Amino acid sequence: MASTPEHFDAIVLGAGGAGLFCALTAGQRGRRVLVIDHAPEPGKKILISGGGRCNFTNLHTAPDRYLSANPHFAKSALSRYTQHEFIAMVDRHGIAWHEKTLGQLFCDGTAKQIVAMLIDECDRGNVTVRLGASMGEVGHADGVFSVAHGNRIARAPSLVIATGGPSIPKLGATGFAYDLARRFGLKVVEPRPALVPLTLPSDEALFRSLSGVATPVVARAGKTRFAEAALFTHRGLSGPAILQVSSYWRHGEAVGIDLIPDAPTDWLIAAKAARPKAGLRSVLGEHLPDRLAEALADQLALNGGLADQRDANLRAAEARLRDWQFRPDGTEGFAKAEVTVGGIATAGLSSQTMEARSVPGLYAIGEAVDVTGWLGGYNFQWAWSSGWAAGQQV
Ligand SMILES: Cc1cc2nc3c(=O)[nH]c(=O)nc-3n(C[C@H](O)[C@H](O)[C@H](O)COP(=O)(O)OP(=O)(O)OC[C@H]3O[C@@H](n4cnc5c(N)ncnc54)[C@H](O)[C@@H]3O)c2cc1C
Repeated sequence: MASTPEHFDAIVLGAGGAGLFCALTAGQRGRRVLVIDHAPEPGKKILISGGGRCNFTNLHTAPDRYLSANPHFAKSALSRYTQHEFIAMVDRHGIAWHEKTLGQLFCDGTAKQIVAMLIDECDRGNVTVRLGASMGEVGHADGVFSVAHGNRIARAPSLVIATGGPSIPKLGATGFAYDLARRFGLKVVEPRPALVPLTLPSDEALFRSLSGVATPVVARAGKTRFAEAALFTHRGLSGPAILQVSSYWRHGEAVGIDLIPDAPTDWLIAAKAARPKAGLRSVLGEHLPDRLAEALADQLALNGGLADQRDANLRAAEARLRDWQFRPDGTEGFAKAEVTVGGIATAGLSSQTMEARSVPGLYAIGEAVDVTGWLGGYNFQWAWSSGWAAGQQV
């Protein structure tokens, strides 16, 4: 039998980065906050993130590093609670960190420190965090939300949807946020797996034989390019450059890869003058891992030494190496996606407060919303910033 309803100022659904940050912000403003999650522990994605060290923000956080149907939406929250404010909190908790590359900040120790920090900050705000609670009926009447969970009912004038997106279901991720948002009349931008390896069709089998080979590239989907490493896998392509372009890639499109980003223009012509007897394979081997150099030389089929090749053919080979076309047949899906592109449509939300325009008191934050960051700490910064924005308001 359900117990007597408990009353709070705000109920936050989801104890991930966004939900905890919203809760600690509101709690420290003196609001009575309840966080509910079905997982047995808080912040499960934080714990496994960044190889267990949590890439918790990025020094170069800026709105142009986020995908959304409305590219302006993230500006307000990101500018009011910045990466520098989060770094200051991490410093206050004595958590040592380092910049790995490209502005990406990681704990020196473990991601557990970030979860412990968020829970400690929630405690300072007297937030009630209820874990392992299966979510029941969510109601709304006379400006008050009610949430059944386990055998309890909680009521509050503010309800925050912070249950994330459907990527990595085995960690407890669900499409709950979208179902709930739709029930309240909000629209959802089609969710797609993002920051995810791409799969190649069987006629690209040659590259499967390169499984495990990594090389620095510039990868391109449409007009968007990323200069990072690519990794050949037994199913297709992965590595940071590929994960980044996967968020922009659409079915049917090609991904173009510059395999020799550091080679100067007309590098093969120069190599022909300097080492006329050298073959393409050995010249490629100066820029690429051996197995990849061999596979590409086979594909380009320029037999003999460089001196035997016409300049036009060398230029054509270089052009192909600078924009090698792959046609992925799909992605490895939500099971392997670090995030979800799409989600609760920003058109129905205030960018200042994350409150639903048509349902006063209802908020959506974090990955549940149609705002998706690049790889490199941008997604957690969105969780903190959007959580902070809603936490100021509830
Ligand atoms: C392997 C991996 C590594 C990552 N590494 C990084 C990184 O290093 N840096 C970075 O910036 N981003 C990283 N990300 C992305 C980042 O984890 C997410 O963007 C971020 O966790 C989103 O926070 P959130 O609070 O919105 O959602 P989540 O962290 O997903 O939290 C949602 C919470 O809601 C709960 N929930 C879901 N459905 C229900 C339901 N029906 N009932 C009750 N509770 C529910 C879940 O249990 C969860 O606790 C990584 C993601 C993955 C999968």
